[in-house]
Amino acid sequence: MRSDLQKAWMRHRAGQHYDIRLTADDGYQAQRSYSIASEPEHEGEIDLTIERIDDGEVSTYMHDVLIKGDRIEVRGPIDGYFVWEASITEPLLLIAGGSGVVPFMSMIRHRAAAGAMNPICLLYSSRSLEDIIYFNELEKSRGLGRGLKVLHTLTRSQPPNWKGYARRIDEAMLNEVAGPLGRSVQVFICGPTLLLERAASSLVKIGIKSNQIRTERFGPTGG
Ligand SMILES: Cc1cc2nc3c(=O)[nH]c(=O)nc-3n(C[C@H](O)[C@H](O)[C@H](O)COP(=O)(O)OP(=O)(O)OC[C@H]3O[C@@H](n4cnc5c(N)ncnc54)[C@H](O)[C@@H]3O)c2cc1C
Repeated sequence: MRSDLQKAWMRHRAGQHYDIRLTADDGYQAQRSYSIASEPEHEGEIDLTIERIDDGEVSTYMHDVLIKGDRIEVRGPIDGYFVWEASITEPLLLIAGGSGVVPFMSMIRHRAAAGAMNPICLLYSSRSLEDIIYFNELEKSRGLGRGLKVLHTLTRSQPPNWKGYARRIDEAMLNEVAGPLGRSVQVFICGPTLLLERAASSLVKIGIKSNQIRTERFGPTGG
């Protein structure tokens, strides 16, 4: 089965997503997009990471109803804009809010699999330590010392002796984080609308050109 899948496999690019469509018995349909977390080098299956939104239609179904062996309708991989290839050598700044870290896991894993050495920094905003997705893998990856920096900001609560940032992403924070990456830095921002808007406008204020910034909006609200 896996070898049949691999023969017809459409390799994705890091940052792309799939659309998932659910159809109820009465024909009602709901469709949502989910980024691919796995690296393109991993063929034959994809990893999706879905945050459960308490009053959400599709994310609750994926968490509470879907079981191993169920079949769902998917379409993808989609998007040619919010993608990064390991052949691009410029420094990379990835700015994530909440589940906005998912496409960046694909980029970080792709970079490791391809053996790329461009400087890369992930600035990741979460409400609390418990809300950080992929915490252990990120800790491990930065420990490998291959030019990956991971910086967290916790906006609602911080554990004792927390050494990371403890506020929403702002201009001063971006100045500190983006500065060492130099003028040619390529920036990807993914998360809720408010975070996207604040981060993008602050980056422009500190001198990063808008054509160096790509954004992907995940949720309608929040920060
Ligand atoms: C290109 C793209 C890629 C995405 N990738 C991922 C991914 O990898 N992982 C992931 O978890 N989500 C991802 N999303 C968000 C996802 O598509 C859904 O919007 C999300 O799962 C909520 O769907 P729902 O049906 O559960 O909630 P809905 O029924 O659509 O909404 C329920 C309530 O939650 C609010 N809401 C909707 N989305 C969010 C959100 N993201 N955060 C907070 N509140 C929200 C709505 O305003 C509403 O009040 C992605 C979105 C896009 C556009």
